[in-house]
Amino acid sequence: MVQLKSVNKHYGSLHVLKDINLEVGKGEVIILLGPSGSGKSTLCRTINRLETIDSGSISIDGKILPEEGKELANLRAEVGMVFQSFNLFAHKSILDNVTLGPRKVRGLSKTEAEEEAMALLRKVGVDSQAQKMPAQLSGGQQQRVAIARALAMRPKVMLFDEPTSALDPEMVNEVLDTMVNLAREGMTMIVVTHEMGFARRAADRIVFLANGEIVEQATPDEFFSNPKSDRAKDFLGKIL
Ligand code: ATP
Ligand code: MG
Repeated sequence: MVQLKSVNKHYGSLHVLKDINLEVGKGEVIILLGPSGSGKSTLCRTINRLETIDSGSISIDGKILPEEGKELANLRAEVGMVFQSFNLFAHKSILDNVTLGPRKVRGLSKTEAEEEAMALLRKVGVDSQAQKMPAQLSGGQQQRVAIARALAMRPKVMLFDEPTSALDPEMVNEVLDTMVNLAREGMTMIVVTHEMGFARRAADRIVFLANGEIVEQATPDEFFSNPKSDRAKDFLGKIL
C-alpha cells in the first residue's frame, strides 16, 4: 500500500532521513517510535509530500508520488493526516469542517457531503456537535472531528503524528479508542505516538527510528520484551 524505497532527505547539512526502506501492507498498522529528533515527523510528512525528498521514491498503492501538480493533489487526497494540533478551520462549523474537502475535491453535492459527514461524525462519537464551532468542543472531541475530516476524503492510508500529545490526559483514551476502531476496520495506518499501551495493543509492527535511520522493526511483543539494538534498549529504558 505504501512503499518507500531508499528515501533520503537533508535539511542543509543535517541528514534527516537516511536510506529509508519501508513497506506498509494494506490494513497494516505501523507505529513509529524513536527519540525526539529522530525524524519521525519528517518521515510522515514526506509520505504525503508536505516535505520533498532528495532521492528515492515513495509510492501509494503502486503509484509513485509526483513532486507537484494536479496528480500530486489527487494522490495526496489518498493520504489522510492527523497532527498533534487539531488544525480545524476555526471559523467553520464542525459539519462544514468535514464537508469542505469532499465538496471541493471529490465533487460531492452539499447534501451528499453532509450525509457522509454525519455518518463519520457519528462513527467517531461527535455527531451531536455538528452545528457547533471548533472552539466550543473539548480537545478530544476536536481531534475526533479531525479524524472524521480526514476520513471524509476516503484515504487509503492514515498518518497520525502524535495525535494525543496535546490532549488533557482524560481525553487521550477517547481518541485512541477511535483509532483502535479504525484499525479494526482495516484502515492502513502509520502512527507516531508516545502511548506505549496503545502501541502494544494496536500495532502490527513497530518501526524504531534513531538518527534518521530505521534501526529495528519487530512485532510489539518482540520489540518491548526483547529489543535488539542498544539504541532501542536505551530508548525503552527511558520511557518504560
Ligand atoms: P519529536 O519526537 O521531537 O517530534 P521527530 O522524531 O518527529 O521528533 P523531526 O521533527 O522529524 O523529529 O526532526 C528530525 C530532525 O530534523 C531534527 O533534528 C529537527 O531539528 C530537524 N528538522 C525538522 N524540521 C526541520 C526544518 N523544517 N528545517 C530544518 N531542520 C528541521
Ligand atoms: Mg515529531
